[in-house]
Amino acid sequence: MHERSLVQNLLKQVGQIVADQGGGRVSEIYVQAGEMSGIEPLLFASAFEEMVADVFSSECRLKLELVPVTAVCTHCQHQFEVVDFQFHCPECQSGSVDVIQGDRLQLMSITMESSDSHEGVSA
Ligand SMILES: [Zn+2]
Repeated sequence: MHERSLVQNLLKQVGQIVADQGGGRVSEIYVQAGEMSGIEPLLFASAFEEMVADVFSSECRLKLELVPVTAVCTHCQHQFEVVDFQFHCPECQSGSVDVIQGDRLQLMSITMESSDSHEGVSA
């Protein structure tokens, strides 16, 4: 199952951050999944629930947010939201566009129980 390996990678990534912070209990993991990432939110959430208990705690919550696909035109630099997989610039009709968001799973932040601070995570 695709989602299981994604969850595994995510938990590994979070575990690394927690270790860097000197340990602690994670109460929430916030991720954004692009509409083009191929992630099935329900499958992902159930895989998370199943696997998080082994790594952190079953009280650790998942906050999963779906984000739209955004692309930028390589000709006129226009940024636009991709709807129905129409990869054409609405400004100049160019088909040469780069997807800049929405094609992957991204860890946004984690919340530690010991403090209320949100640790930002950069890609
Ligand atoms: Zn354009």
